[in-house]
Amino acid sequence: LGLQSVSAASGGDAAAFVRRLVAEATTPELDPVELAATSGGRWSEAELQGALETLAEEGRLELIEKVICPECDRPLDPDDLASRRCPHCDADFRETGEGPKTRTAFRAPGGSRDIEWMVVVHGMNTRGPWQEELSWRLSNKFAYSAPVLIYKYGEVRVGALFGFRHRALVKTLGRRVRSAVYFAQSFGRGPTADVVLHSFGTLLFARLLDDPEFQDLRFGRVILAGSIVRPDHDWARHVRSGRVEAILNHCGGRDSTVKLAPLAIPGSGPSGRQGFSDPEVLNIRAADYDHSTFFEARGLAENLALAGCWDRFLRLPANAFRSETMDVGAAAQWRPPPPIVQKLLLPVSVAVLGVYGLLVGLGVPAWIESLSRRPFMRP
Ligand SMILES: [Zn+2]
Repeated sequence: LGLQSVSAASGGDAAAFVRRLVAEATTPELDPVELAATSGGRWSEAELQGALETLAEEGRLELIEKVICPECDRPLDPDDLASRRCPHCDADFRETGEGPKTRTAFRAPGGSRDIEWMVVVHGMNTRGPWQEELSWRLSNKFAYSAPVLIYKYGEVRVGALFGFRHRALVKTLGRRVRSAVYFAQSFGRGPTADVVLHSFGTLLFARLLDDPEFQDLRFGRVILAGSIVRPDHDWARHVRSGRVEAILNHCGGRDSTVKLAPLAIPGSGPSGRQGFSDPEVLNIRAADYDHSTFFEARGLAENLALAGCWDRFLRLPANAFRSETMDVGAAAQWRPPPPIVQKLLLPVSVAVLGVYGLLVGLGVPAWIESLSRRPFMRP
């Protein structure tokens, strides 16, 4: 019954059918021959085989060898092998003289992990429909029932230029996360949240992990998008100590904002473009993304769709990604600009962010945005 409802909801496409089966963890094992029979001839073995192989290439499935009867091709268990008789067609292998055959099938590696709840920390000036879109995609689209804490620290512009403001924002973030942990536990959730971070939020989170006041806080999978943390940042110690399960640094191949960050923001760097040299971090490049693509409708749709980058990172064993990581030679070479550069540029940075703040106060960016606004499209 389960397979039929999945089949009916998949609209004629074998690839969509098997993706749904994997996402919903309906069956532990996916055998193209059995699926073809179950689907009532709707899809051929070859179609299903091809769709499953594609998922295996994406790291969502691993291959297994099933032992089958040489007469009727149905599966044999170890008892059947010991008795040398097929329970389905009664073939006696001692009589036929044929040994059992094998057939390739598929299964999800190590199963799929659960998302308990999630913390989202955004960038400096990101407000608006993406928050709703993200929550909606997490809660409905993929049957994630995880509650989402979206940490709002208000508009930070000139404050981003000063280390003392960073420290204050880190303390506020840490206390909010800690109270969210208590809240989640009171509703029977585990203490470990997965985390999605954007831009200035990546820097605050890196500081939070390093802050001794918040050593009690532990996290699951961490997604960095448009990161402005230094490319030589030491994440590995937090992974090794178990405070963080795994880190995905999603880089935008066209992100030029992160290249400017170290000229203005203390302790920052262009890791959202160059990646991290730390071997514990999975650095993945989205070639045509700029700084904001990740949180636009397109970015959220692509990354949280089934088999999308974030969807897979949140669900699958982290080692499923090793083959897709990018070259981080530039991150290993990176050196911070001399401190004098930030000091000399400070009046310019203050002026730029100050004028921007003034325009926001006058409603100018919102007005410009309204000229080009398109509603979010939901498939
Ligand atoms: Zn048989």
